[in-house]
Amino acid sequence: MKLREIGEFGFIDRIAPLGAMRSQGVVKGIGDDCAVISLEGPEHLLVTTDLLVEGVHFLMEWAPAEVIGAKALAVNLSDIAACGGRPRDAFISLAIPESVTVEWLDGFYQGMSQTAQRYGVNLLGGDTTGSKQYLVINVAVTGLVPRHEVLFRHGARAGDIIVVSGPMGESGMGVEILLKRPDLPEEVTRPLIRAQLEPRPHIEEGRLLATSGACSAAIDMSDGLSSDLGHICKQSGVGALVYESCLHAGQELAAAAEAMGQNPLRWILGGGEDYVLIAAIKPDMLEEFLRRAEENRMTFLRIGEFTEQPGIQLVRSDGRITPLRASGWDHFA
Ligand code: ADP
Ligand code: MG
Repeated sequence: MKLREIGEFGFIDRIAPLGAMRSQGVVKGIGDDCAVISLEGPEHLLVTTDLLVEGVHFLMEWAPAEVIGAKALAVNLSDIAACGGRPRDAFISLAIPESVTVEWLDGFYQGMSQTAQRYGVNLLGGDTTGSKQYLVINVAVTGLVPRHEVLFRHGARAGDIIVVSGPMGESGMGVEILLKRPDLPEEVTRPLIRAQLEPRPHIEEGRLLATSGACSAAIDMSDGLSSDLGHICKQSGVGALVYESCLHAGQELAAAAEAMGQNPLRWILGGGEDYVLIAAIKPDMLEEFLRRAEENRMTFLRIGEFTEQPGIQLVRSDGRITPLRASGWDHFA
């Protein structure tokens, strides 16, 4: 059987039952943004890992080494944010082809350690090997979260409000621009490319969700709204209604999509790698939560609600309701 037949997520479902040989201490194994492990003290340990492969996730000519190093760490910090935690320590493993120079690697670590410093993360180890052709980067990060504050993908209930912690679709459009180099003004392309290459992990937004008592589930957006919201729905046993009228394209995304003769919704729903948080907020606590977010200068946008009826439906601007299939990134589909 080819992986294409079951897809990336079908594969993960297949291996998930093999996970925990020793259930003691395992709060959450395979299936969430981080594994959650209970410690003796008042906090849970979070562990997450992500793999970046040259030619699959990035091209060397897209960005200087510093930017690639910073992103490799940032995408892992985003998974810690999705669980409501604060990051602690990182481990970096590299498979390095002959074409990569020592100067490039110096830059890579420079960028990574700047991001590490910003978020108070130690770089504590890793592994180094050669590679026949492509650069392969694996980063693993640990974090801590008070045990009653941990956020999971499961837990959303029908009636909970769907909020997102920032703009969507920009990073996906950034990739499109990097690949196709359309003739667009730099003030349009620059912020979109930046969204792709320099994502900001929403650690503080995750902490606000975790401490608010208002959040019943969360995930970070790596694969696109339709796919990542789908993960919350599946694990929570609920469906969702998303309102097209709430899915505003930012100025640059709108301009780029128009120049390409495309609907920006394509990137908002399926783009991926925005690394904003998608969260379920208890309806009676929404107002108070949004007030606290505003006090902390954070923007959470309300885009829909969770429903008893399974599946994700898009309420179009003209009132029609259409099913929203997962159109986000799957490495094998
Ligand atoms: P994210 O997009 O948040 O990084 P993924 O979709 O990559 O999450 O992974 C979902 C879950 O599957 C996580 O719990 C992750 O640790 C687990 N997982 C992914 N690939 C593997 C693998 N090859 N073996 C074991 N667990 C895996
Ligand atoms: Mg994630």
